[in-house]
Amino acid sequence: MIRLTNIQLVLDHDDQAMTSAVLDRLSITADDLVSIHVHKRGYDARKKTNIMLIYTLDVETTHNESLIEKFAKHQLVKATPDMSYQFVAKAPADLQERPVVIGFGPCGLLAGLVLAQMGYKPIILDRGKEVRERTKDTFGFWRKKILNTESNVQFGEGGAGTFSDGKLYSQVKDPNHYGRKVLTEFVASGAPDEIMFVSKPHIGTFRLVTMVEQIRAKIIELGGEIRFSARVDGVQIDNSQITGVVLADGEVIHSRHIALAIGHSARDTFQMLYDSKVYIEAKPFSVGFRIEHPQSVIDKARFGKNVGNPILGAADYKLVHHCKSGRSVYSFCMCPGGTVVAAASEEHGVVTNGMSQYSRAERNANSAIVVGIDPSDYPGNPLAGIDFQRALERNAYVLGGSNYDAPAQKVGNFLKGTSSETVGSVEPSFQPGVKLTDLSKALPDFCIEAIREAIPVFNRKIKGFALEDALLTGVETRTSAPICIKRGKDFQSINTQGLYPAGEGAGYAGGILSAAIDGIKVAEAMALSINTRHEKS
Ligand code: FAD
Repeated sequence: MIRLTNIQLVLDHDDQAMTSAVLDRLSITADDLVSIHVHKRGYDARKKTNIMLIYTLDVETTHNESLIEKFAKHQLVKATPDMSYQFVAKAPADLQERPVVIGFGPCGLLAGLVLAQMGYKPIILDRGKEVRERTKDTFGFWRKKILNTESNVQFGEGGAGTFSDGKLYSQVKDPNHYGRKVLTEFVASGAPDEIMFVSKPHIGTFRLVTMVEQIRAKIIELGGEIRFSARVDGVQIDNSQITGVVLADGEVIHSRHIALAIGHSARDTFQMLYDSKVYIEAKPFSVGFRIEHPQSVIDKARFGKNVGNPILGAADYKLVHHCKSGRSVYSFCMCPGGTVVAAASEEHGVVTNGMSQYSRAERNANSAIVVGIDPSDYPGNPLAGIDFQRALERNAYVLGGSNYDAPAQKVGNFLKGTSSETVGSVEPSFQPGVKLTDLSKALPDFCIEAIREAIPVFNRKIKGFALEDALLTGVETRTSAPICIKRGKDFQSINTQGLYPAGEGAGYAGGILSAAIDGIKVAEAMALSINTRHEKS
């Protein structure tokens, strides 16, 4: 097949327009064309009066090879690459030792699945509960303020992104097309087919839950074992080689190949690893607030008269501002038609995040507006960023009334520096509830100044962004891990052989797709190392 990139067509084009664009690009006639397959579809809404659809197409013609040769120097015409996934190894039939994966979020899901598909029968451990039980606990917290510190938005089957917008795109370089493998597995487990071709796919919370259950069933069918409420509280290291893990109930599981896919909120586990002398560095992350607007304001600002077009759906945005102070403020994890959620995993802390359903039909749009910070803002040992996050979360808990309500303020008041007394036209979606207050006390002064500078600038890009009644809710602290558990080219910890730091918690991913991709890479590295060791024994 021939891959054509950057085919631009107007929003309401018909099939004939696509055919004509293909014939035009390849200078062929209709008789030469066999078929057209849409590989990717995105849109360019920079000019809302002239929104364009941007396609990557795979085209079959009667003479592919000669056309590929003819267009050899054309950047937008290439042979369609083989994007199918090839396993790098196969488990030896007499293999005794089973690899262990700690954490069953996107990274652990894909690491576990790929190891199982290659025949390694992994043991997967997660501190939280299976996803249906976890859903009850999480909704229990949102509705009744009862926090289960082991089963919540951060911990349990499916990981941190289970109650989310389920955005499935990433900017990581992916020359081996691992992202395709992830999406293919997700579709095979119940995700909608369209995630394969829309440029910014999302699946929403409820579909994610079903998908995660199906992947679990597949791993078990392939001989893998998944254990919930199995928190790893210790590691056994002998002469710089990991030899096993110790569970909270004292059980020891022996293995010399252990993936550490624990996400960014496993603070007790980070401390345990640090105390066990696993090499850890501090790394930059971001803190800020969630902002909520009526979705209709965002739709109108982005799509103009095209609001409601089913191809476009609910509008999103991505904003960045570089402040005079040198700080950057940016929007993060934008959830069109969604809700702001309570994402704490520790008692007496308030943390915000966002989620939505597949339909993205809720009244409000939300996103995090965050300021980049780095280790010079929280000097100390490599775990000092965790103390910084925790202090902000506990402070937000107090500002919210010490009952898991979140502190909130209208944008108009925030910009003027006055406290909010009442909610305006934007109803807060945060559960259990919000307490209106003065958010300037919720973050360090340099963050408040930066966000105050950025919001009016964002208003020039998205009309209505600085709406008087738009609502800020705080605090957003879990944007990424505040640490990096360094690994070498072999994907193993630089000072602990056999330990494979992976995914978001180790500092090697940011988001569902990139964490899942990292899970595949780590599974491959583990399999190759297991086979090498097996050959030598
Ligand atoms: P995690 O998903 O955090 O999984 C880690 C797992 O390890 C957890 O299940 C935890 O229980 C387990 N664990 C931790 N410690 C231990 C231990 N000691 N022993 C055993 N198990 C342990 N990203 C997107 O790309 N798109 C989105 O739309 C999106 N929305 C989000 C919405 C919310 C509310 C949240 C919280 C996050 C969202 N994210 C989103 C981010 C995304 O969820 C994470 O980037 C991703 O889940 C990271 O995957 P991971 O597998 O590395 O870690």
